[in-house]
Amino acid sequence: MDMWRIPVAGGLLLAGAAIAAPRADVPSQEDLPPETRELLATAPEDTARGALTTVLVDIDPLGAVGPVPWTVHSVPFLNVRSGPTTGSADVGDLAGGSTVFGDYYLVVESDEEWLSHTFAGTERWSSVTGLTRPHPVNVENIATFGNLPYGTEIVNRWWGLPLDYEPSDLVPVPPGYAGGQTSRQLRTEALSQAMAMIDAMRLDGLDMFISSPYRSGPTQKSIYDGNVASSGLNQRFSAPPGHSEHQLGATIDFARPGGGFLNNTDPQHAWLVENGARFGYRQTYTADNTEETGYIEEPWHWRHIGLRETGYDAWAVR
Ligand SMILES: [Zn+2]
Repeated sequence: MDMWRIPVAGGLLLAGAAIAAPRADVPSQEDLPPETRELLATAPEDTARGALTTVLVDIDPLGAVGPVPWTVHSVPFLNVRSGPTTGSADVGDLAGGSTVFGDYYLVVESDEEWLSHTFAGTERWSSVTGLTRPHPVNVENIATFGNLPYGTEIVNRWWGLPLDYEPSDLVPVPPGYAGGQTSRQLRTEALSQAMAMIDAMRLDGLDMFISSPYRSGPTQKSIYDGNVASSGLNQRFSAPPGHSEHQLGATIDFARPGGGFLNNTDPQHAWLVENGARFGYRQTYTADNTEETGYIEEPWHWRHIGLRETGYDAWAVR
């Protein structure tokens, strides 16, 4: 699973003026101080947005990359609207596969995210639920190496992978490590290290299994579109296509033998915190990095970042 929360830039768009905030001090929506909440509540009506209040979101919290377009994953097209709400006028379409530059806003009243962009010379809006944004470094590394080198991939709420990226070295996870299931896949090194890790855990008297490993871009799109359709544009539990670490084929949601994802109180989690690095595995989303990653803490979600990254040698471990 990938579940996120939103880092909101301190810059508020009030009466059409964006105020930049220091990057080092980017509060989340929940952390907005009472004064800001009050300011938002009493913000003057902006004619471009009707009565809605929009807050500029920092979509590059890991560092400035420069303007990078969003790609439309909606098919056959994404609606362009006069305001940041599905209740506003439908004024055009962005074709599936096309790209668009824009500013990313949170709409306070609806908790929805909308991209402000120039369409036919006028400021218009499209829901970000139809957009994805591959990171230029990922695109370049795929062109150079084919499969992305472990640990170099940049995947978070704001940056992602091309939807058609699929590692060529995916192999089936043996049922004994997958809770009896036969359809699960991981990249070769990610799998061999995960199996060695589970073997080592079993020698210590604990057990867990690989519950959710690789998911393709199209699979993630199907899951995401379904969740948006059923839970609304403001759902926060499903990652957009291209923005899930599971597409790397190097990331695993671990579950307890009886079922259910690992949580902070499970001895298996404590074991992973102590030993995961020996096998190149790291918990991606911790309580300490929610601002940087845009995701909530996920004790069950571990990613293979390569053995050199963690300072251990593959053969010395065995
Ligand atoms: Zn996950």
